[in-house]
Amino acid sequence: MFSYRHAFHAGNHADVIKHLTVIATLQHLQQKEGGITIVDTHAGAGLYRLDGDYSETGGEAKDGIFKLLSQLDAASAKKDAKPIPEALQAYLDMIASFNPNGQAKFYPGSPFILHAMLRKDARDKLRLFELHPTDSKALASNVAQLDAGRSIMIAREDGFESLKKLLPPPPSATGSKRAMVLMDPSYEIKSDYGKVAANIQDCLKRFATGTYLVWYPIIARPEAHDLPKRLRTLSNQSQKPWLNLTLSIGRNTDGSSAGLSASGMFVVNAPFTLKDKLREAMEVVGPALARGSGHSWAVEHS
Ligand code: SAM
Repeated sequence: MFSYRHAFHAGNHADVIKHLTVIATLQHLQQKEGGITIVDTHAGAGLYRLDGDYSETGGEAKDGIFKLLSQLDAASAKKDAKPIPEALQAYLDMIASFNPNGQAKFYPGSPFILHAMLRKDARDKLRLFELHPTDSKALASNVAQLDAGRSIMIAREDGFESLKKLLPPPPSATGSKRAMVLMDPSYEIKSDYGKVAANIQDCLKRFATGTYLVWYPIIARPEAHDLPKRLRTLSNQSQKPWLNLTLSIGRNTDGSSAGLSASGMFVVNAPFTLKDKLREAMEVVGPALARGSGHSWAVEHS
């Protein structure tokens, strides 16, 4: 427990699809007036240096945001360059807003992305949970610089457990109850897979209309293989629309398969516009991040 530090992985291909999906989903939800309770059950440190010691050691942004940006740069120089799809543009704008000098030196984690999207009149609330002793301190000091007041609450608590206290969410000023939850564990321990499924089942009982986003790794482990199937069954049993986005960047150029090469984002109560938005984005992201044999992407939905 606690050997996982997101700083080693910030900006990798998994972060790209995770944050692309989070932004597109919240943008859709914010088309309605009512305030939203946004919960990030596994928040991480909030903001990462892409030129720091951790990211240099892992170098995972090379197969993620760095590769995406350089491929897009090369494509934009061509005569028949196509416009960037809307959801991808929103993601790129978000990364650019943390890097005003042009070079990608900082990568925003989900807490900073979600904070940047809170509507300025404080109707949306952000609730962050991070259990790691060092990362929870880093998160608190990063968030302190945002001067976010009472829109953000941070707790060094178990996100799976604490989520229960927040659902159903309090009514917003318009009287409506709305919530979006990002569940993004490190899956360091096998029991995380079961906890995710059990939590989503519990969430649907407590607040059936919430939008729930789960990131999961695609690896050769039965629990990992079963998780999206279990989420699909839970959604179907509750008659909730779901979406499952997967990306595999394929094998390493030397043919080896070391490191994480594939992951997915499962959305319960997926907005109806999300599938087309993500498909358009993935038509660019998928090929841009393809590394070797076995690369693929898909957007499945109910
Ligand atoms: N959501 C972050 C982002 O997109 O920037 C990345 C989160 S990282 C994949 C998972 C985090 O969950 C780690 O920082 C880990 O310390 C933390 N963690 C692990 N178990 C936890 C738990 N039960 N409750 C809250 N945080 C936990």
